[in-house]
Amino acid sequence: MYFCNMVNLEKYEAVIGLEIHAQLSTESKLFCGDAISFGAEPNTHVSPITLGHPGTLPKTNTKAIEYAIKMGLACNCRIAENNYFARKNYFYPDLPKGYQISQHTTPICIGGNIIIKTEDGEKSIQLNRIHLEEDAGKSIHDISPTDTLIDLNRAGTPLIEMVTEPCIHSAQDAFLFVTEVRKLVRWLGVCDGNMEEGSLRCDANISVRLKGETTLGTKVEVKNLNSIRNIKKAIEFEIERLINLIETGGTIIQQTRSFDANNDTTFSIRDKEDANDYRYFPDPDLAPFHLTKEFIESIKQNLPLLPSIIKKEWKIKYELSDYDIEQLCENKEEAEFFIALAKQTNYYKAAANWIMGPIRAYLNESYTSYASLEKLIPYLVELLNLVEEQKINFSVASNKVFKAIVENPQSPIQFAEANNLLQTNSLDEINFWIAEVLNNNPEKVIEYKKGKKGLIGLFVGEVKKISKGKADPKMTTQLLENELSK
Ligand code: ADP
Ligand code: MG
Repeated sequence: MYFCNMVNLEKYEAVIGLEIHAQLSTESKLFCGDAISFGAEPNTHVSPITLGHPGTLPKTNTKAIEYAIKMGLACNCRIAENNYFARKNYFYPDLPKGYQISQHTTPICIGGNIIIKTEDGEKSIQLNRIHLEEDAGKSIHDISPTDTLIDLNRAGTPLIEMVTEPCIHSAQDAFLFVTEVRKLVRWLGVCDGNMEEGSLRCDANISVRLKGETTLGTKVEVKNLNSIRNIKKAIEFEIERLINLIETGGTIIQQTRSFDANNDTTFSIRDKEDANDYRYFPDPDLAPFHLTKEFIESIKQNLPLLPSIIKKEWKIKYELSDYDIEQLCENKEEAEFFIALAKQTNYYKAAANWIMGPIRAYLNESYTSYASLEKLIPYLVELLNLVEEQKINFSVASNKVFKAIVENPQSPIQFAEANNLLQTNSLDEINFWIAEVLNNNPEKVIEYKKGKKGLIGLFVGEVKKISKGKADPKMTTQLLENELSK
């Protein structure tokens, strides 16, 4: 490891600020009708507007503005009513126009916060802003040994950039924050959150200072972090590297670095000049845009129920554990499916367990989504009620009946009856199974009678097994106890 063990990490505090770019899931680009299409044949979605040819005029995609506002509202930001787009001028091969259209002094969303749940309780991560901008194209270095290839399909894709205040103090909290952001963009449907494909990208700014110090230390910025795990690893590495540098008498220079996933380290790509001069100016081809209070309000009204609100409601309404609620609120489709079940049954905990157990397993195995189960909701409710009312054993219900009804939607009770799967409370039948179990386990019976009462579980289990789950467990226990006390 890079870090020298002599150094006392506890003396220092890490300060981290994140910049997250999220590609908005609109159908077309931010300023023209080119389709957004990840993985398409290179340079096939590139109109003269994307290329900034003379005589072309950009036109703002309202959907992108709406998505940015959605995210802002979900993060408690203030939405700016008066906005304009600016040109950020710089040269780069993947930037066909020679400038990027971005927001300069007026981010569309100001301030705001996102709550993360840490081992030390909830923390509020403050946002500085969320602004709208267009993405650049893509330089491809690994196809030709001599040339860099350019694919401009991505140029002009709408992005939101979320910038946090320098208020994160550990790699773990940064990890939790990005996880929360990814969950939220997916929940709102504004971005697919796919880090491997680059729809969600994160740059981490890191500095360290002695605890108690109030001024910020010199920061380094790590780019190209394409997974949440790598963000955490890069930050961990940098914190140790910076502390080590200070402790060994070195000076930290403001640098842009890149993460090397092969050995979990970072390396310098350039020393950062004091201030880049991008010669920002308002884009003369795009009129400033004003957002009316009514427009913002209508977006607010149409926001889906947010996980932060759902979580509070569910605790009271369904009396579920924090763990269950956290699990079910991992994704919106699952949360909505739970709500749909909970509307039709009062066995809330059972509904949660069915989702986290057999239903998830089925969706994983069949590569399908909750949408495919919607038509089964009444049958699933009937099935889970049957289990809760002890009319059918859970493992029979989940292994046999559930499988049957997803393959061929049908009433679970009818299927169970037709296939002789319902639990029985017929004394004769249960006694018959009990007799067989006791006959097969004479030594255990002796042990039980000598006082090893815990063996009752084993007998009940055996009866369950040979009855194929049909013996009512309560009655079985009762009858077994009677039989064994003779
Ligand atoms: P830049 O102009 O270099 O992009 P910004 O002031 O826009 O810097 O900040 C970019 C990100 O870096 C923000 O998330 C901010 O919180 C974070 N940041 C700024 N200064 C520091 C610092 N000294 N240590 C850690 N993070 C910082
Ligand atoms: Mg920056």
